[in-house]
Amino acid sequence: MGGALRPAVSRPPRGARFPLALDHVHALPRGVERALPRDAERPAPRELLRPQRPVAHAAQQALVAAPSGLGLDSAAVRARMVERLRAEGVSCEPVLQAFGQVERHRFVDTALATQAYEDTALPIGLQQTISKPSVVARMLALLFDSTAAREAGHLGRVLEIGTGCGYQAALLSLLGRSVLSIERLRPLHEKARTHLHGWRRGDLRLVYGDGQLGHAPWAPYQHIVAAAGGEALPQAWLDQLAVGGRLVAPMHDARSGGQVLVVVDRSTQGWHEQRLGAVHFVPLKSGRA
Ligand code: SAH
Repeated sequence: MGGALRPAVSRPPRGARFPLALDHVHALPRGVERALPRDAERPAPRELLRPQRPVAHAAQQALVAAPSGLGLDSAAVRARMVERLRAEGVSCEPVLQAFGQVERHRFVDTALATQAYEDTALPIGLQQTISKPSVVARMLALLFDSTAAREAGHLGRVLEIGTGCGYQAALLSLLGRSVLSIERLRPLHEKARTHLHGWRRGDLRLVYGDGQLGHAPWAPYQHIVAAAGGEALPQAWLDQLAVGGRLVAPMHDARSGGQVLVVVDRSTQGWHEQRLGAVHFVPLKSGRA
């Protein structure tokens, strides 16, 4: 990553509405953002309004046994991963500390556990993958560099789209005050619940739903992070981002035909976009399955 940043502050065409391809996401003149329809004012789908149980209290169907005899329970294995991340240029201490605490091998199938601390993406079922640690670390470090995080020293309220196996959600819960993570595939949502059973660090809630809608009842979020990339950023994410907050997501890039990592900062002036380097994430899909 680390491609050149493109200054993107300009005025949108009169009457422009979200969602817009990020080529057209610009700072809005003062006052315009208030005129945009806010998700919080729309009736939320029923499943999003259902009270969500904290993960620690979720009913569990099965526990995934932690691999034994592999030496993976040792903090030393994670410490080596952290040192590799540091050597690769990740310098955000809270992020590095979180990587040192969360046992990645508990979030992947037992057969893959020996690869859990390599810098590699791993399958988590249903054609989905857990991103490689260096990519997750870069995204979290980008979140930590927002105005809100620099002021508060933590990520505050976080929305994650794409819970997957729950690994990044666990990291986020160490970095924020409260985390709400949405997954559209029920088996993965259930798997993440299982992985996070007994996880008592921070306020972490898992929602089964279409993350393209965000989660209006908890908005605004100081930080929003997506682990799946679509054609454009959903309007709900932009609306539900707090002023001073930051959104990090992969997104289709018309110029290259691939995906790029997009960072959107919201200020009182509106939304400001930067495009970083090429990335490769699973597609952002609609609805639940
Ligand atoms: N952060 C995850 C990565 C999971 S991969 C982890 O640590 O494991 C991305 C996930 O995004 C997949 O599980 C996929 O099902 C999910 N996804 C794709 N589109 C979605 C949508 N509209 N709403 C919620 N989740 C979505």
